[in-house]
Amino acid sequence: MIIIGAGAAGLCAAILLGRKGVKVTLLEQNDRIGKKILVSGNGKCNITNRHITDARFHSQNKNFVQKVLKGYDFTSVEAFFHSIGLVLTEGKEGKMFPFSMQASSVVALLRYAAEEADVDIVCQCQVTHIVHENSNFHLQTSLGDFSDSHLLIASGSLAAPKLGGSNAGYLFAQKLGHSLIPRHPALVQLCSEEKWTKSCAGVKLPALATLYANKEPVIQKEGDILFTNYGISGLAILDISREASLRLAQFDYCELSLDLMPSFSKEQLSNLLLSNVNKQSEKPVSLWLQGFIHQKLIPQILNTSKCRAVTEKMLNRKEIGKLVYALKNLKLGISETRGFEHAEVATGGINTTEIDPVSMASKQIPNLYFAGEVVDVDGDRGGFNFHFAWISAMRVAEAVVSNEKTAK
Ligand SMILES: Cc1cc2nc3c(=O)[nH]c(=O)nc-3n(C[C@H](O)[C@H](O)[C@H](O)COP(=O)(O)OP(=O)(O)OC[C@H]3O[C@@H](n4cnc5c(N)ncnc54)[C@H](O)[C@@H]3O)c2cc1C
Repeated sequence: MIIIGAGAAGLCAAILLGRKGVKVTLLEQNDRIGKKILVSGNGKCNITNRHITDARFHSQNKNFVQKVLKGYDFTSVEAFFHSIGLVLTEGKEGKMFPFSMQASSVVALLRYAAEEADVDIVCQCQVTHIVHENSNFHLQTSLGDFSDSHLLIASGSLAAPKLGGSNAGYLFAQKLGHSLIPRHPALVQLCSEEKWTKSCAGVKLPALATLYANKEPVIQKEGDILFTNYGISGLAILDISREASLRLAQFDYCELSLDLMPSFSKEQLSNLLLSNVNKQSEKPVSLWLQGFIHQKLIPQILNTSKCRAVTEKMLNRKEIGKLVYALKNLKLGISETRGFEHAEVATGGINTTEIDPVSMASKQIPNLYFAGEVVDVDGDRGGFNFHFAWISAMRVAEAVVSNEKTAK
């Protein structure tokens, strides 16, 4: 079998197939294997998640996701890593990491396991063209031609081109007769044309972010937000970026409403602010606000609140109400995402109605398989994207091995 892409899915499939005696050639365009794995999870590699449910995955074909996941939960991935000598440890929210907390150990052990399974790894080998003829796949590459009766396309998505992200797999599949679901950047930062975020760049705080598109609320997430020169980032923003990306493809513009003090209800916040007002004080309101919120955010809060009080003693229930509204509904227009360049994953991909969920085989071309992010499945932040890559690869390996046995 030829496998295109020595990322998570390609490596996992190659190891499992090689161990069963299948002769595997693994073609990788980068100068080394597993580049995305190496940088993943801030260098720690969030391998999978203890709490795998189909609700954490996205596809136009939810039924397909359910079927692929069936029987392949966290324990399947744990067992695979155990078999290559990698022990996992649990972080927050069920996130699983290598015990070493080093993504480099994941790649090192995958490489060793692949070599031990006699996988032929060919790096700096970019596949440029595929022809399916006489039941064989003929591949043109930057290192010459390769042919085999079985092909696995595990070339990932367009996300993070500097790490090998490419649209090659989509195009190969399309040329071989498959259709594609539109691709959009996901798990990505959001850009704004509003200038004020520049002066707040570097300010990070826990907040509740609500995305609006066409004036309708779309999704809400609580977590850290980070103001930046281009707009906004942070975990809560990454978590809503998929929906923002899809909506921005439909509408010119989306809006975020940010609750900067989500742990207080409106009433609690009003009471807190009111209880801190000294009716005799000449303190400027901008300074008084530093008792509650980061200094850099204050000009924007005062601007949007239209608070008329200039000094603390001018603050009354009405003016406090305006400040509370601004603190809990700070608006930020979103013009675009930061694109595939900065995205962790891509939505869309090869249409899964044309793929068998048990074997990950093409329903159209015999002995053609797909695994990982190249297909129309993406997951939430938290190890779900790698989970899909590992388990879709496991399905390919099991199907190919059992087909071989049947043929014999
Ligand atoms: C910065 C970052 C951090 C991430 N962190 C996490 C995380 O902690 N947890 C998580 O679950 N997910 C994470 N992800 C997402 C995760 O990396 C991907 O979902 C996963 O790598 C997909 O696996 P894959 O095997 O399908 O594709 P990839 O791992 O992208 O592998 C595809 C391989 O195919 C190669 N290739 C492409 N085209 C060709 C061609 N024409 N010829 C030869 N080779 C080719 C590429 O170079 C690449 O090495 C992160 C992504 C990024 C960018």
